Amino acid sequence: MNHATTSDKLFALARNYWWCWQPEVASIFRELDPVRWRELDHNPVLMLKEMTAERVDQRCREAVLHSRINYHYRRWQEYMNSSSNTWGATHAGVVGAKPVAYFSAEFGVHESLPNYSRGLGVLAGDHLKSASDLGIPLVACGLFYNEGYFSQQIDEHGWQRELYAPVENSKLPIEPALGPDGKQVMVKVDTRAGSIHAQVWQVNVGRVRLFLLDTNVEANSPDDRRLTARLYGGDVRIRIRQELVLGIGGFRALTALGIQPNVVHMNEGHSAFAPLEMVRMRMHDEGLSFDEAVRETASMCCFTTHTPVPAGHDRFDYGMIDEHLGPQADQLGIGTVGMMGLGRVNPQDPNEPFTMTVLAFKLSRKANAVSSLHGVVSRRMWSSLWPWRGEQEVPIGHITNGVHLGSWLAPQLQDIYDRVLPQDWREHSGEPDTWTNFESLSSGEMWETHQSLKNRLIVFCRARMIRRGNRIGMSQAEINEFNDALNPEALTIGFARRFAPYKRADLLLKDIEQLGRILADSKRPVQLIFAGKSHPADENGKGILQRIYKLTQDSAFKGKIFVIEDYDMNLARHLIQGVDVWLNNPRRPLEASGTSGQKVALNGGLNCSILDGWWAEAYDGLNGFAIGNGRVHVNQDVQDDRDAKSLMKVIQDEVIPLYFDRDQDDLPMKWIARMKHSVRTLGWRFNSDRMVMDYVLQGYVGAAGGLSCDMDRIQ
Ligand SMILES: *Cc1c(COP(=O)(O)O)cnc(C)c1O
Repeated sequence: MNHATTSDKLFALARNYWWCWQPEVASIFRELDPVRWRELDHNPVLMLKEMTAERVDQRCREAVLHSRINYHYRRWQEYMNSSSNTWGATHAGVVGAKPVAYFSAEFGVHESLPNYSRGLGVLAGDHLKSASDLGIPLVACGLFYNEGYFSQQIDEHGWQRELYAPVENSKLPIEPALGPDGKQVMVKVDTRAGSIHAQVWQVNVGRVRLFLLDTNVEANSPDDRRLTARLYGGDVRIRIRQELVLGIGGFRALTALGIQPNVVHMNEGHSAFAPLEMVRMRMHDEGLSFDEAVRETASMCCFTTHTPVPAGHDRFDYGMIDEHLGPQADQLGIGTVGMMGLGRVNPQDPNEPFTMTVLAFKLSRKANAVSSLHGVVSRRMWSSLWPWRGEQEVPIGHITNGVHLGSWLAPQLQDIYDRVLPQDWREHSGEPDTWTNFESLSSGEMWETHQSLKNRLIVFCRARMIRRGNRIGMSQAEINEFNDALNPEALTIGFARRFAPYKRADLLLKDIEQLGRILADSKRPVQLIFAGKSHPADENGKGILQRIYKLTQDSAFKGKIFVIEDYDMNLARHLIQGVDVWLNNPRRPLEASGTSGQKVALNGGLNCSILDGWWAEAYDGLNGFAIGNGRVHVNQDVQDDRDAKSLMKVIQDEVIPLYFDRDQDDLPMKWIARMKHSVRTLGWRFNSDRMVMDYVLQGYVGAAGGLSCDMDRIQ
């Protein structure tokens, strides 16, 4: 684009999500039209499409954007063309010209692409961004959900309503993925009852291309056209069909695009059918036997397991497998019975269902859990796959999750990091030495920056409460109250996550009288902000949300407890950047890792968490707070009671006193020391650059180089 106009350049920037981790580029879009920018979920493609060319030009002149656009366009071009001097060029050379193919059922890249429902997807998005920044040759493969996951409305009774709004493809930052013939790639997967067709879209995430398969095409039956409409929206049959499209369809899509991966990384078991297609291709193209092809394929595959409970793993019966994998099984020469064996711990047991996770383990050379503790849990859970090994020798390691710094760190703090950390901190953020100097930052500056972020959060929450108030028909008087809801001087505790029962959103409410006393202390004001979606089918989770909502209407808690609807990446960003304390109280050991608390830590908030997931390895006594001591009890009720008491105790005896211990300038010096200590000790470790570097060194390099397998063959 040598003679590109300013608006060409704007469109080009809008079509690559690189912008979403460049605060200066985001602010160019915002300045074009601040109101529409917010209303359109920060979707620059849609916003620009709405504006006429003259209007874009006019705004660029009024806001003096031309030179900024030119500058960032050039930066972007340099970024796209400079992968030769990256960490990846030095350390992932063996991955070489053939990329890593990263498969996931969801991708949370940005709120404008609602292709995610939870941490698993946001993690996948962060993985792509770090792979891009580090210059790792990587492409990604997922499904395109044109109704996405639902947006959440909380009605006047505090009950969750789910809204599915189909998005028009032309309004999203996606484009058709073109094959060598210049046409949009289409793939086909056979079942016993006919074929499923899918078209392929491309999303640009920096240097990484993300391909999304979409079954909404004419060749499909009406049911199959809706197959990929919703994320986790269907029954078992929809689930297996989605997974068939993701795994087998996804690998075929890569082939049709001319991409031959050197490594395949399965993020959770949903994509475990992909290696079956690799096996088929090797048998067909290279004339290998089934066993040889399995060995060759497994040596290229890495698998990350995320689920610490047996019930969380997809399981299918013989009929489902025969209908959907029968044709593939025939081509592999193993028949449906042989196929069932690949998904069973004990292949000979006719009563055992087919488990995606088992298949993924059997077809990978390398498997990992997502935190140290989750590694222990996973080795125990799957030890029956390796009966000849002791539990410690089960070949499942761990690579602890991390978060993408550029996406989650507040721009105000990025400026501070620029000053306090070494000049090249962005390129070396996954290394401890980079962070050594952080604690030299002045306490006053740390505090004031934090307070300004907290104020942004408050303004954001007010706007969401007012929007909801208008929707459900609250009185003007009630709505006006939201204008000064939330107190910037109060200790602000945030809790936002899925309302899944094990996350125990209501743990703090167990001793409601005591909570009432704490919140009633006007000298030491404390406020709580809750947010989170419940799975559409989870009445129990919705009940918990409603119970908390009811408290916001109760005179004893009104103005102290807030529920903000529609937890998404945008609300998450505001919350994790603005809270003082991030509360996390899952039932140990059910939180495989958790990542929201890592985002908080980067921004100087303090975690107050059960010693589960990432926190079990992160907490050092000074970088946050621990609830309890990590003991679990066989009786769930006993464990819940004990944790509720520990939680109340730590809030009352540690968190509140420390926060309100002020010096003559009203600064909580000991608190600020913890904030800085938290950033220094956690920022490098729990960031996705470090995570992706670990995946490269521990997984991808070996898989690409065909080094000997970590896993012994499982029968
Ligand atoms: C980071 C993030 C998560 C992950 O949260 P955890 O509860 O820590 O697993 C979930 N949803 C959104 C929108 C996020 O941004």
